[in-house]
Amino acid sequence: MKVGFIGLGQMGSGMAANLVRAGHSVTVFNRSREKTKPLVDLGATAAAEIAEACGGEVVISMLADDHAVENVAYGEGGIVASLAAGALHVSCSTIGVAQSRHLARAHAVAGQRYVAAPVFGRPEAAAAAKLFIMAAGGRDDLDTCMPLLDAMGQRVFVMSDQPEAANLVKLSGNFLIAAVIESLGEAMALVAKGGVDRHAYLEMLTSTLFGAPVYRTYGGFIADHKHEPAGFAAPLGLKDIRLALAAGEELRVPMPVASLLRDRFLTLLAHGGDHLDWSAIGQLAGKDAGSKS
Ligand code: NAP
Repeated sequence: MKVGFIGLGQMGSGMAANLVRAGHSVTVFNRSREKTKPLVDLGATAAAEIAEACGGEVVISMLADDHAVENVAYGEGGIVASLAAGALHVSCSTIGVAQSRHLARAHAVAGQRYVAAPVFGRPEAAAAAKLFIMAAGGRDDLDTCMPLLDAMGQRVFVMSDQPEAANLVKLSGNFLIAAVIESLGEAMALVAKGGVDRHAYLEMLTSTLFGAPVYRTYGGFIADHKHEPAGFAAPLGLKDIRLALAAGEELRVPMPVASLLRDRFLTLLAHGGDHLDWSAIGQLAGKDAGSKS
């Protein structure tokens, strides 16, 4: 399939590479041009303008946040202005429900198609085509992009025929992950200050009632104090909690734990944590407890 890919960050670079490897004809665009080079070496074509990546049947975007999507999607030379009528935009970025709805309307007005397909999985999973993809949109639109989603992920979950529902599901998932990170941080601070080895404790947890990947991955980072390099940067974590709270506010769903998590991320960033992985909120409880390590 002739496909454009916009946004070659930690996630997008691996996802675009897997489309090339699957035999698709991929044209890539990134704001910082140098990130196109490894993709071109693999066989992709570099686009100098967003419009050049919008000449195919489908364009996929994987951008940081709502602001980045606004920059790339709207205005002269943006995705909406550049896609042909009937062509499909697949938005994989973790963006707000309201932004996703706005994008769906803009594409509909332009006679184009739109699917939201945010993902679970860190950059390693993106590179290995092991993402879990939450997809939502019209049946025909999903059918059109399914071969592309299959090339980037290990499983696609169709959540709704309303694209914004996929964004809501993704935000709910990141809220749960952040809640696990905070809880693990508190539990480890407790046992470590009581003299228990963090790694022995994590081994016990993950071998008994807490065997899920999220406990293994983030428990390991917290036990090792390893939050650099950031696979998912702390400012993006704050963004997702903020978006989950905004969705809760719109739907009149109080989320007291999410409100607490927002403050945890603010504490981390206020102390210079912008460059750290979001799992670094898992160290705050130890600091609050006055622990040295
Ligand atoms: P990233 O490495 O920071 O990449 C962000 C991408 O967005 C880059 O291509 C960047 O371009 C582009 N961008 C940022 N601001 C822009 C703007 N104003 N105009 C145009 N382009 C802009 O982020 P990532 O980790 O790949 O995450 C991408 C998305 O996936 C986010 O929505 C994130 O929440 C979500 N996600 C991430 C993970 C993870 O573990 N990392 C997992 C699941 C979902 P430049 O290269 O020029 O900066």
